Parts: sequence; structure tokens; C-alpha cells
Amino acid sequence: MTAPLPQDMASRSLRSVWHPCTQMRRHESVPPIAVTHGHGAWLHDADGRRYLDAISSWWVNLFGHTNARINGALVDQLGKLEHAMLAGFTHEPVVALSEKLSALTGHALGRCFYASDGASAVEIALKMSAHAWRNAGHAGKTEFICVAGGYHGETLGALGVTDTALFRAPYEAMLRPAHIAASPDARLAQPGESAADVAARALADVEQLLQRHRGRIAAVIVEPLVQCASGMAMHDVAYVAGLRRLCDAYGAHLIADEIAVGCGRSGSFFACEQAGIWPDLLCLSKGISGGYLPLSLVMAQEHIYQAFYDDDVRRGFLHSHSYTGNPLACRAALETLAIFEDEHVLERNRRFAQTMDAALLPLAQDARIAHYRRTGMIWACDVILPDPTDAATFARRFAQQAAQNGLLLRPIGNTIYLMPPYILDDEQAQWLARQAYATFEAVMR
Ligand SMILES: *Cc1c(COP(=O)(O)O)cnc(C)c1O
Repeated sequence: MTAPLPQDMASRSLRSVWHPCTQMRRHESVPPIAVTHGHGAWLHDADGRRYLDAISSWWVNLFGHTNARINGALVDQLGKLEHAMLAGFTHEPVVALSEKLSALTGHALGRCFYASDGASAVEIALKMSAHAWRNAGHAGKTEFICVAGGYHGETLGALGVTDTALFRAPYEAMLRPAHIAASPDARLAQPGESAADVAARALADVEQLLQRHRGRIAAVIVEPLVQCASGMAMHDVAYVAGLRRLCDAYGAHLIADEIAVGCGRSGSFFACEQAGIWPDLLCLSKGISGGYLPLSLVMAQEHIYQAFYDDDVRRGFLHSHSYTGNPLACRAALETLAIFEDEHVLERNRRFAQTMDAALLPLAQDARIAHYRRTGMIWACDVILPDPTDAATFARRFAQQAAQNGLLLRPIGNTIYLMPPYILDDEQAQWLARQAYATFEAVMR
């Protein structure tokens, strides 16, 4: 049997697969890349080319493709239990994972509720918050405050707290809009202002909303430290600590959406650790399974859990998904956490980040670049385009050129960013930085 031709796979895909986040017509000129296998940081295509996965396949992959340890754990789990429903049943992978994650918060967030993707975790957190208030006799607290430029997923509830016009507009009439607080984005600093000053201004806006809608706000939802999907907008840690104080003062829950920034991406395992606070509810997904399987969860503080604990079924949290707590996904997550521990990953990442910073200097110092920035293992900078309305075209051309240069890199508008897996060596860091700069030069020519 001969292997199918690469053009075959792409054209078959275009006849039958509706690709996500894509205007399909664009594929008439640029077909999707047909990936045949992956290994470490590399994805290989049917043409025999390879691409360094510098954005961790949409921010999910932490320890490389076909990672030997995670593969091994999954093979072992496949021989034991692939899935069992989690209502009325339990199993070792889900118990062990819940214990481990709880321990990582010093047991501040001791209750884990499971789902399959990030958007569902956000839905769960929103429902849990409002339902907890209802059970506590505050049925009027059903509204949410979200942050300008924030992204929390694309199901209707999550989209209601997402501030991305492109994703929202067609569904606006179906959404239950949230109150949008001013952005804490450090790039908004006026001359002489620091990132902390911007954070303070943004917090004052949150406080105003909490005052104006007193008694009706269930929770404030935030992507702590970095708003990723809107273009890696980074803010001062004081913002996150300030939200905690305001939520306590006005009787609202704080929901930390750590779906993108969790699992070490921000530099600490949870981004909230850097602010020295814990939210009432914390959402995790993306990296938690090492990029292997759909898994998400909401970690809740004990007082939230207790608000549901009762003889009355209706006071329970009856939400569920078919694959809740899937043993394979939990096992991949457990192995992912074991790698963090055994390989001292957070420490290794801190050293790696220095190497990467140095390698990226030519890009950072280029006169056509503004706001070079980094939080943990996220690097970003904004390209100054002669015509800012060209951002979408720039992003597309950059991604195409990057692929030609052996990189999987997809800018968000005029923001180029790197979110590599946590396994690159120094040589790969140098190569990645050189190729990224060469791509930039080629596109700007
Ligand atoms: C990706 C993401 C989501 C949505 O997760 P999905 O698995 O794509 O549904 C929610 N919040 C943040 C911060 C994200 O980055």
C-alpha cells in the first residue's frame, strides 16, 4: 500500500471537514497543512516538511508531541479503564488528579468539577457562582463583570463574558451581556504612567461597576496576568490582587480563567499565585492534559461547595457532560503533573526564558516593533504596520511565511507571539528566534 499523496489529504479535508476559526474559502488559495506525525516540538507533514510548534498547537501542548511518558501512561490506562461515567462511580485517575491539583493550591481550592473543554469550564464556573448565591438566599446575584478584551470561549454563556467583536457580532442578539470593565492592559500606560498605574485605573472602573450594580453581581471573571486570545495583553499583578479585594468588599465571587495561563504558562503553576491570592473558582483546561485529550475542570473553594451541600436535590449542582472525568484524559493530566515535579519544569522554564529573551533581542529592538513583552513562557510584540487596517492580512501572510520557514506561528492581528512547549533546548531557542526574525523580515519587505 502506498501512502496517500499530501494534496489528497488536504483536498479530502476540504470536501468533508469544516475547520474551526476559519473562513473556509481562504483554503482555496492556501490548503491546510496535512500533518502525518509529531515528535517533540515538531509536527511533520505529508510532504516531508517539519514545523517547530512554537504556539504549542493552540497553547495546549506542554511536553512535546508523542511524549514517551504520557504515551506510556495512556497505554497503561487503556488496558485498565477507558471510561466510566462519573455520576455514582469514581476511579483512581480522577481521584488522584483532584488530590494533586488541590494540593497545588495548598488545598485552598479543594473541590474539582470536571468537563471536556475550556468553554464548558467557563459555563460551569458562571452557573456555579450564580447558583451558589441563589442557594445562599441571594437569587438576585445573576450578573457578571468581565474585562475589556477578555476571552472565555465561544459557547453562548462564555461568549456573553467575552469581549471580542469578531466572535460575538453574529450572535449578539442571543447573548446575555455582561458588564465590561476597563482594560488593565499595560500598553495603555500614558507617558509617565507605570503598568501598576493602569491597573489602579482599571480597578477603579471595576469598583464603579460593583457599586452601580450592587447586589446583582455574582462574579467578576478575569484571565489573570495575560489576556491571551485578544493578543497577549499583559497586566500588572496588582490588578489580580485588587480584584480579590474588591470582590471581597462587594460580595462577589472571583473567577480566574486560567485555561490559557495555567499549568506553568505564566511562570508559576497558577497565575494567581503571583498575585498572592486564590479565586473562588478557577478554570483549567488546554495544557492540563499535556495537549493530549480534551479535559477541563473548575476548582472551587470549600464555601462554594458547601453552598450546594444539602438534602434537597435541587440545591445540588446537577450540571454534567457525558465524558466528565474521563480516565484517559485524567491519566494524561496526572503524567503531565508528574513531569512538572520530576523535571523541575518551572525552574527549567525560568532559565530557558532568559535564553529565549537574549535570542529574541534583534526582534525586540527592531524599530518596526512596539511593546515587546513577556510573562513566563509567553513572548509577544506588536508590529507597527504602515496601515494598521492591514493587521489581518499581515497575520495571514506571516503564518504562511512562517510555515515556509519551518515554524508553526500564527500572529493575532499585528501581534506576533511565541508560546512554545516546555521542552526546547538552547539550540532550538536560537533557531526559533532566527526563523521568527527571518519571517518578520520577509513579510515586512
Ligand atoms: C481557549 C480558552 C478558552 C476556551 O477553551 P476551549 O477549550 O477552546 O473551549 C477559554 N478561556 C481562555 C482564557 C482560553 O484561552
